[in-house]
Amino acid sequence: MGVVVIGAGMGGLAAAIELAATGVEVDLFEAGPRVGGKADEVLVDGVAVDTGPTLLTLPHVAAALFRAGGRDISEAVDLVRPDPAFRYHYPDRTTVDVHHAVDDTLASVAASLGPAAAEQLDAHLARARRIWEASSDYFVFGAAPTFQRILTLGPRAWWSLARIDAHKTLWDVICDDVEDERLRWLLARYATYNGSDVRTAPATLACIAWVELGLGAWGIRGGMHALATALADTARQLGVRIHLDTPVERIEVNADRAVAAVHAGRRVACEAVVCNADAAHLYASLLPESSRDAVRVSPDTSTSGWVGVFRARPQDDRVAHEVVFPEHYLDEFADLFGHHRTPRDPTIYTCALSRAHGRDTWDDGEPVFAMINAPAHAPDDQPDWKALARHRLVRSGLLDRDDRLVWQRTPTSLARRFPDTGGAIYGAASSSLFSAFRRPANRVHKLHGLYLAGGSAHPGGGVPLCLQSGRQAAFELVSDLGLSHQLVAK
Ligand SMILES: Cc1cc2nc3c(=O)[nH]c(=O)nc-3n(C[C@H](O)[C@H](O)[C@H](O)COP(=O)(O)OP(=O)(O)OC[C@H]3O[C@@H](n4cnc5c(N)ncnc54)[C@H](O)[C@@H]3O)c2cc1C
Repeated sequence: MGVVVIGAGMGGLAAAIELAATGVEVDLFEAGPRVGGKADEVLVDGVAVDTGPTLLTLPHVAAALFRAGGRDISEAVDLVRPDPAFRYHYPDRTTVDVHHAVDDTLASVAASLGPAAAEQLDAHLARARRIWEASSDYFVFGAAPTFQRILTLGPRAWWSLARIDAHKTLWDVICDDVEDERLRWLLARYATYNGSDVRTAPATLACIAWVELGLGAWGIRGGMHALATALADTARQLGVRIHLDTPVERIEVNADRAVAAVHAGRRVACEAVVCNADAAHLYASLLPESSRDAVRVSPDTSTSGWVGVFRARPQDDRVAHEVVFPEHYLDEFADLFGHHRTPRDPTIYTCALSRAHGRDTWDDGEPVFAMINAPAHAPDDQPDWKALARHRLVRSGLLDRDDRLVWQRTPTSLARRFPDTGGAIYGAASSSLFSAFRRPANRVHKLHGLYLAGGSAHPGGGVPLCLQSGRQAAFELVSDLGLSHQLVAK
């Protein structure tokens, strides 16, 4: 008997690799026709385009997985670093470029927003770095945090954790450090990287700014889906059996233990189950009613989003990633989280896929991915997304009037693709100072043999965190099985 992994998203693939690398027999069942989950791609007019993540941070987490499979990351995927990486467009027509080297970004901010803004960004990044270095061991790498564990860490850890501004919100610390409103918006947007509200998210999330601006962000040649296929290749080489188009219907529980997964009426007995499906799906559809309460599902869902791909006439000055801010950025958070409605005047993010990921282009145009944040559990006020995106992008000069939308996915279709999630992209949002403690742990304590891997479990959403989630689930499972594992903490 081996282990069943449900879902071939980033968390599921990572768990499968770590388990198989320890000698555990793994069957991975994926409902969809491809691996990757949200890191998916579609073929449009003969060109493959990304429909999910467009930016990779913390590549060393992926590197650790390839290493577990005996490969160097450079043999598995080709990391791409376009420069400038990002261009931010403001309503007053100012633009700010972000580069890979922090010093280049600071110089660019000084040139666009003035030397005082650059100094403030520098100060904020110093804080963000301190938060990352003090908190990542407890909140990202390693088991899910608990208050009891924090109490046992001892004075050194307490001293370091006391300096992460846990009592403040992300917006508080941005405003403490930065006066320029435009720079505040740039930093506030990092809250959306896990679908959260900058006004209530803990200051700990400032670390995302350091992770992207300080540690760096990459594309992957061939698109982010190529990371998923490379991980799947590694898993197969380690002996993992990946079954596509095989939705698991339910998990069988016997005497408080997960004992089997059932697909198409076929029962697969196992020693343990790692669930990469969203915890909300596990709760609502996979567990028997009597065992559901073993899983905590947060009511604070993260945001969903509309995604479209334009066939855009090439422009020389197009940048890999661009962000077009609205007149009043903070209103977007009030709409999303306060009124639970589509932002009246949303921010639009674009990714020129051929520049960010070396994606192919059409003869007459390049694929430009566009994204607008929206609430999960789509309210009735669904706008004409296509018209909204086109209007704003043409007005800002990022698209030509004739550029065609060739593919789109609405929050409603995202919700259909990922059942029981309401289309939430990143699991639970970090909406309060205690979110990290409320997120489901990777080991389900009240149900033996059940483990969670993916964005709705510890340490949360985003590609590297989901990969880490899968690794942590595997480490805990292997330890429970009494097998040894070469634990690589980071
Ligand atoms: C539009 C968009 C943009 C994003 N941008 C970024 C970005 O730039 N950078 C970044 O780091 N992150 C980004 N993210 C987030 C990132 O993609 C996700 O956090 C991550 O990929 C989720 O991985 P996961 O492990 O949670 O699995 P998921 O991707 O949620 O996959 C779960 C898998 O489980 C399968 N499954 C579910 N139920 C069953 C069942 N019953 N039986 C069998 N299989 C099942 C599903 O089919 C799916 O394949 C973005 C996401 C989206 C949608």
